[in-house]
Amino acid sequence: MKKIPCSNCRGGQFVVSHPKYYHYTDSGLDNVYLLGGVELYTCDACGQASYSIYDIEGLHRELALILIQKLGPLNSKEFRYLRSYLEFSAKDFSAEIDKTPKTISEWETGKSPIPGVVDHLIRRMVATNKKMGNYQVRELSEKLDNPKKIGRIEASMKAKVWTVPNTYLRQSHSHY
Ligand SMILES: [Zn+2]
Repeated sequence: MKKIPCSNCRGGQFVVSHPKYYHYTDSGLDNVYLLGGVELYTCDACGQASYSIYDIEGLHRELALILIQKLGPLNSKEFRYLRSYLEFSAKDFSAEIDKTPKTISEWETGKSPIPGVVDHLIRRMVATNKKMGNYQVRELSEKLDNPKKIGRIEASMKAKVWTVPNTYLRQSHSHY
């Protein structure tokens, strides 16, 4: 097993491990779990721990793609995730949509609901982001009108590429 001297204490060493299942709370979302693709460093003396994620940009893009396809309104954390995915500070985003930073803060802490038009807009901004491929913007209003709760999001590292199955985004029944 590979060992690295601990940067936090004297004498300890970081032990490198590869968790099979990692709850990625630093994403800012509560329901993201990584299946592979994570290196965990834990000090064998003081317990100090850190981690690194393989192709974190690719992972963040896949998660954003899942969120913009969500059926029903974005919740406060999903909105905040997409806002930071777009690399907007809360201040810059508020200026972009002619709102105050306080209003953005209220949306992101769940104090007030995110207006449908803003939900629609941020999905569109993510969808038209160069990195995003050919997501169909016109499907958006249909998605917003047909709520479905997203459960656990599991991202798998397969052949060095992050994949997130989107099967749970489909509706269980159709009214067409
Ligand atoms: Zn240590």
